[in-house]
Amino acid sequence: MLERGEVAHTWRTERWDSLRLLTPNWQSRLPGFRYNGPDPDGYRTLPEVVEFIATYARVISAPVRTRTTVTSVRSTETGYLVQTDQGEWSCRALVLASGAFNIACVPGFADRLPPTVATLTTQQYRNPGQLADGGVLVVGASSSGTQIANEIHRSGRPVTLSVGEHIRAPRVYRGKDLKWWMDAAGVLDQRYDEVDDIARARRVPSLQLAGSADRSTLDLNALTNIGVKLVGRLAGITENGRAQFAGSLRNMCALSDLKMNRLLNLIDDWARANGLDDGTEPPHRLPPTYVEEAPPLGLNLASGEIKTIIWATGYRPDYSWLELPVLDRKGMVRHDGGVVPSAGVYLIGTPFLRRRKSTLIDGASDDARDLSDHLVSYLHGSASRMRA
Ligand SMILES: Cc1cc2nc3c(=O)[nH]c(=O)nc-3n(C[C@H](O)[C@H](O)[C@H](O)COP(=O)(O)OP(=O)(O)OC[C@H]3O[C@@H](n4cnc5c(N)ncnc54)[C@H](O)[C@@H]3O)c2cc1C
Repeated sequence: MLERGEVAHTWRTERWDSLRLLTPNWQSRLPGFRYNGPDPDGYRTLPEVVEFIATYARVISAPVRTRTTVTSVRSTETGYLVQTDQGEWSCRALVLASGAFNIACVPGFADRLPPTVATLTTQQYRNPGQLADGGVLVVGASSSGTQIANEIHRSGRPVTLSVGEHIRAPRVYRGKDLKWWMDAAGVLDQRYDEVDDIARARRVPSLQLAGSADRSTLDLNALTNIGVKLVGRLAGITENGRAQFAGSLRNMCALSDLKMNRLLNLIDDWARANGLDDGTEPPHRLPPTYVEEAPPLGLNLASGEIKTIIWATGYRPDYSWLELPVLDRKGMVRHDGGVVPSAGVYLIGTPFLRRRKSTLIDGASDDARDLSDHLVSYLHGSASRMRA
């Protein structure tokens, strides 16, 4: 296992200080390793996540070569040549586990921003103390954007939140964590070959969830209630530094409410079918997302009102070192449930790789088991081919 930094590198270096997992403690399960503490329904803090992963690596004696950056991978007659800043490796099989969230996506029009506006991505943001006093525009309203908007607004810097596609989700539903319901009802186990449009499913943003000590729901209504101003998706920036917001905010929010209610209907059906209606709170729905009558369609970024922009607009993987013909035109690895169309190459840790939960820590177990079965039979097959 080659790792450019230390074990749990991304958690050590690319997350904001106050981040807590949005998955409850019981749900961070790795093979043979699960939470045993007093707070199974709590949410790990960042240092706890680092400790959890580092401990797992120690317990299983993971053969990790830290501080070893892979700089290129090429195919050879017998397998693959892996070049690193610590020397070369040859291998017959290769698992790409370099993460799905390596590079923060920033729209191309960001270069039109007036020089007076500072920008940070969610990978660079640590805490409000980093920011100048004054207004902040947070772009993106999925789990990262809403959490960061909440924290910054509470620090006294007025936040405007630009809202694109997102999926609203109550933290607790009918007395249980939403993730408990999704896990129990099999939503998270849904397989990649069972969904109608897997390419679309792989692009769906993360649920708008946050882990907090009081298990409160952090949706757009919660943010509006503390004074965060909602605007539509940031569609562009004009030459003279005016932000243009799409007029679709109301539709985006209605669609998000609809998707949330569809999930809650599914949960209610499952609870009824499995005899849970008696032991749990009755079904209920959240009030619709509140959107003001005519949200602004523009904002002068050169006026000094906005001092900082936080890009919470998603991430993409970095395969700049992968010199194999396996990338599609968007730079994503082509694969069938993690089996890459290059003999002995596998992918793991990307959204909906084999299951809906593949993007979660909890998804690694099942995916790793399936793929290692395939990998082992590939190695056996290639060993017999070499003997023959
Ligand atoms: C903001 C955020 C919040 C999240 N919250 C949750 C949550 O609450 N619960 C949950 O279950 N999941 C959460 N996730 C998803 C979680 O991060 C992933 O499921 C998990 O990190 C996947 O682990 P991984 O090892 O596949 O990828 P990563 O954790 O990204 O690890 C990839 C590793 O590869 C290394 N690497 C990359 N390139 C190279 C190279 N060229 N050479 C050598 N090493 C390299 C990196 O240093 C890194 O350590 C969150 C993700 C983000 C971005």
